Amino acid sequence: MKLRLAQPGHVVDLRKVPGLSGVTESGGAVVIGAMTTHYEVGSSPLVRTKLPMMAEAAGQIGDAQVRNLGTIGGSLAHADPAADWPAVLVALDASVRIASSRGERNVKVEELAGRYGGAYEKLPHPASRFAIVGVAAEVFLDGGGAVTQSRIALTGLASKVTRASLVEQALQGKKADPAAIKAAAARAAQGLELRADLTGSADYKANLAAVYTERAVKRAVSRALER
Ligand SMILES: Cc1cc2nc3c(=O)[nH]c(=O)nc-3n(C[C@H](O)[C@H](O)[C@H](O)COP(=O)(O)OP(=O)(O)OC[C@H]3O[C@@H](n4cnc5c(N)ncnc54)[C@H](O)[C@@H]3O)c2cc1C
Repeated sequence: MKLRLAQPGHVVDLRKVPGLSGVTESGGAVVIGAMTTHYEVGSSPLVRTKLPMMAEAAGQIGDAQVRNLGTIGGSLAHADPAADWPAVLVALDASVRIASSRGERNVKVEELAGRYGGAYEKLPHPASRFAIVGVAAEVFLDGGGAVTQSRIALTGLASKVTRASLVEQALQGKKADPAAIKAAAARAAQGLELRADLTGSADYKANLAAVYTERAVKRAVSRALER
């Protein structure tokens, strides 16, 4: 609206609709209301303890004004290809409850038990703070430190959030040591249609994808090992 790209006849403010905001724990899942602001998500003790990747990502969205006004639901509905939440929620295998006058689709509850860790790494655009690249990594380990499952999502690089499936495959079953993580992360941009733009060439972005994926997976693994 600020850029006059949309000029709706009516604007409905949802902020006073009860029950749409807040962070709670229910049935082993962290439940976040659509109208919860980025700041509220990031400062929630529950999020900080259970899902530190989310707190990390929230603190990197825009600036203080954006974090205090923008909401997680608004960000998901808007679905900007460089937005942070979509990558984080894809990596966490989170579910979203969508309701309309025709009914609603139910939540699938995120499992919180086990030896897992997540991390979010982002290179923000210096002006808008949107992601030039953002990598959300969630890693599950067995007792010997081998990867039993990983979910890695990239934002900012393509027309929508993308799973780094080749990296996930390369990590599967491997002991999550630095060499294995580096080798797997090198595949982050394979298969992506990277576009050169004002923020850099396609080669530069491919390198960013590998470097930021390596960082995110390393930190996710060290968080999992701390559990
Ligand atoms: C200067 C600036 C910098 C930014 N930087 C970043 C960044 O670094 N990373 C990032 O991820 N984002 C960034 N953003 C986006 C920001 O985080 C907001 O989430 C985004 O602008 C949406 O705003 P909003 O949450 O107020 O939703 P609105 O603008 O109110 O709504 C956006 C869309 O979602 C719909 N919607 C809103 N709430 C709901 C709901 N509860 N249910 C269904 N539909 C709903 C609306 O109808 C609308 O279509 C930035 C924005 C600005 C202005």
